[in-house]
Order: sequence, then C-alpha cells, then structure tokens
Amino acid sequence: MKVFHILKSQKGTSLVFFAIMLTVIAGFAAISVDIGLISYEKAKLSNTVDAAALAGAQELLVNFSNTENIVNTYIDKNNSGLSEISIIADNLTRSVEVSATKPVNSYFAKVFGVLSQDVFASAKASVENISAMGGARPFAVVQQTFVYGNLYTLKEGASDGYSGNYNAIALGGSGTNIYENNLLYGYDGIISVGDIIPTEPGVVARRTERAINTLVDNCNHLPACTHTEYKVNCSRIIFIPVVNTLEVNGRAYVLVLGFATFFLEGADFMGGHTEIHGRFITYQAQGETSPDVNDYGTYGIKLIK
Ligand SMILES: [Zn+2]
Repeated sequence: MKVFHILKSQKGTSLVFFAIMLTVIAGFAAISVDIGLISYEKAKLSNTVDAAALAGAQELLVNFSNTENIVNTYIDKNNSGLSEISIIADNLTRSVEVSATKPVNSYFAKVFGVLSQDVFASAKASVENISAMGGARPFAVVQQTFVYGNLYTLKEGASDGYSGNYNAIALGGSGTNIYENNLLYGYDGIISVGDIIPTEPGVVARRTERAINTLVDNCNHLPACTHTEYKVNCSRIIFIPVVNTLEVNGRAYVLVLGFATFFLEGADFMGGHTEIHGRFITYQAQGETSPDVNDYGTYGIKLIK
C-alpha cells in the first residue's frame, strides 16, 4: 500500500531526526555542564586568591617574613588541587600579589579527549594610608614621626595651649555639646586629607575627662585590652586627624594631612585642664585610602588588581 510506505518512511525520518536532535541536545547539555563547572571553579579560585592576597597584605605589616605562610595557609583552607601558586610579597610597596592555577576535570568534554582544563586567577592587595574616614575624635595632633607604643599627650594642659587652643577641633559645628558627643562617639561625618577644619578654643576640662574615662571604662573585654593586645572594636581605640599646625590664635583653621590611631590610657584633670594620654598604634581602619597620603600609621588594605 502506497500510503503505508509513505507513513513508514516518514516515521523512520522522524526517528533519525529525533536521534540527531537528542545527540545535539545532549552535547550542548554536556558542554554547558563543563562550562558551568569551569566558571564555578574560576570564580572560586578568584575569591580564594583575592582573600589570600588581602590576608597576606595584613600580615605583611605585622610580620613580613610570615606573609607567604599566611597566604599559603589561607589558600589551603579555602581551595584544593591547585597546580601552581605564585606569591610576591613586597615590603617596599606594601603589596602582595597572588596567582594560582587549578586544573578542572571535565565530565563530558572527556568524550572528545579533553580530560581537564586549567583555570587561572590572580590578585594584588596593597596597603595604603587612610585618606578619608568617619568617626574621628574632636582633637588633633600636629604632624610628626609617631613612634609605635609611645605615650602621647593628646590634649595639652593649660601651660601648653597656644592662645586658647588646646588641640580641640570643631567637627560638624562648634560648642560643648557637639564636642562632647564627638569625643564619646566619634564624628559621624567624613573628614578627608586636604580638609581645612576649625579649631575649638576654650577648655571643657571636666567634660573631656568624663568622656575619656567613659571610653576607657567601656572596654569590658576580657582580658582587658592593651595597646599590643586589643579587640579591633575596642572603645579605647580612637582616630585623630593629623594636622599641619596647632600654633594658631583663637578660632582658626588647620589643614588635615592624615589620621593617627591611639589607644587611650586615660585622662588627667589638673589645674583646670585635662590631658588625654594615649599610645600610638598602627591600625587597619575603614575608610578611603590613597597611595599619596603620608604614613601616620592608620591604613586600609584594598585589592588593586
Ligand atoms: Zn577593649
């Protein structure tokens, strides 16, 4: 029967077509599984080297000779099966560059003889000085070479003040209440290198003493924090703008050059004035960074590649 033959032949064609389509679809599915796997591994490797470079840059400042060790430990913890790892730690430029290669086994491309494919990722983390930040306290220090661990007097007593200025600065407005608030909680605006800020003449000795003692007492970490062993969010850690000069008359303007971090040791009320004592520390802070800002010990770490 003629009609039957036509039907039979059409059925056969459909089956062949279906078989071809199935192969094509399976092929595409296989390729996309492999592609998915490779992009997953690439993203994972990229995250690993980013974080390892950041961890390395952090260690570089503390213990340069241990930088590579920290990077390797970080990689081992977060990834495996890497075929190549390169670590370049540079103390001079304060940077750590990490690159790594990982062979990823194919599931389906194996059929075509592709057993594995390499994924590669690299990252460079750099330590830069803070150029803008929030949370600064309302007094300043004059630019100088700070020595780690040394005790500094942050707000001078009566005999040291210059024409009514005692290192206090007006952040976000003047007046005692704003000053005290800034002392206790840190200024909630951003101060940047290059800003011109007004000084806050006059003495608010008792309030200064009270606020500083509150900050020292608010450290309820156990064991109690010291300038060498502290919790990063400790109330005794304060950021202070470093300025060009404080030898100014009355309410005057000073130029912000950078930021210094101090660990508060306490306040002394004497002769109607309060002196604040703090030890200079180096500190990784939150804020904008710049390679062009002088080093006053307050830094940020960021990925530059
Ligand atoms: Zn503490």
